[in-house]
Amino acid sequence: MPVLLCDLDDTLFDHERATREALGDLRRDHQILSQWTLEELDARHRVILETLHRDVLSGRLTVDEARLERFGRLLEQGGVREAGVAAVLAGAYREAYALNWQPVPGAVEFLQAVRAAGHSAVIVTNNGVAEQRLKLARCGFDIWIDAMVTSEEAGVSKPGRGIFDQALACVGATPADAVMLGDAWAADVEGAKAAGISPVWFNRAGRPSPDQAVPELMSLAPVAEALDVLARAGLASP
Ligand SMILES: [Mg+2]
Repeated sequence: MPVLLCDLDDTLFDHERATREALGDLRRDHQILSQWTLEELDARHRVILETLHRDVLSGRLTVDEARLERFGRLLEQGGVREAGVAAVLAGAYREAYALNWQPVPGAVEFLQAVRAAGHSAVIVTNNGVAEQRLKLARCGFDIWIDAMVTSEEAGVSKPGRGIFDQALACVGATPADAVMLGDAWAADVEGAKAAGISPVWFNRAGRPSPDQAVPELMSLAPVAEALDVLARAGLASP
């Protein structure tokens, strides 16, 4: 049974946009953050978020603790050391972020077409199950997928092989049946390859490819072209 394994954050779910909108709101409302342009703030925030996300994945920090720590570090970079301010910003960010949840353009139609073509679709994501389930429901992905495997439930994060094996097991597939689509080169592309699964790199920003031999998808729309790339990568017609 051919199966599309698919990353969630910044492949189907537009985390980048939600983050930027939330930071834009915060920057307007809190002067301490307006010392940076939105681009600078976004870049600083992203570096801290990616560092601390590793601690969330390993269980050293909860999502809430990591968010508080993130804004604490951001404020420190801006010359402020007040735990109270970090807590206010973390709370405001959480609210603004959740208000801006949206699919990557074309993502719902894309999943719908994958299923209509007779493929299974399984989400493989490095994050907590509660947060990711909410995203699936809010973005309307939940009715178009067969399963989701989160690193929290799997006990292993991408690029570890175990999470890919669990995703395949959900639908009784082998690595040869599957194509993995994701935006993170190390986690999604190299992780899939190491698990014997053909990768497709989701490269929305048009960054230079570390390996031209790996097929790339720059957009989920138009959907016929996206499916064509998956087919060329090895997602066979059932
Ligand atoms: Mg991703």
